[in-house]
Amino acid sequence: MKKTNILLNHLIDLWKFMSYHNVMAPFPPYDTEYVEELKSKILDMQEDEKTNYDELPVAACKYCNSLHIEVDDLNNDICMRCGSINEVEIHNNIEEYLKAKKEREN
Ligand SMILES: [Zn+2]
Repeated sequence: MKKTNILLNHLIDLWKFMSYHNVMAPFPPYDTEYVEELKSKILDMQEDEKTNYDELPVAACKYCNSLHIEVDDLNNDICMRCGSINEVEIHNNIEEYLKAKKEREN
């Protein structure tokens, strides 16, 4: 099967958005460490020729649909956008996530 880059492109857009706002705002609205981590994740994904990330499950926040989830030291899933804890929803893959997100926004 041909490798697709839906998730990768989504993460790149997210990263561009956060970096832009961190540069333009007087105080960075997004955790700069997280923005750096996201960047290195994107680079890892770009180097990985074998994995089709678009077929893997993705975790998203139930409340704000963000994929911006961090796992803390106690293994809690924290939404970095709205602050919810352990309120993630697992979608079978990025396409299902984007479809669910679009339906909710309409
Ligand atoms: Zn959230």
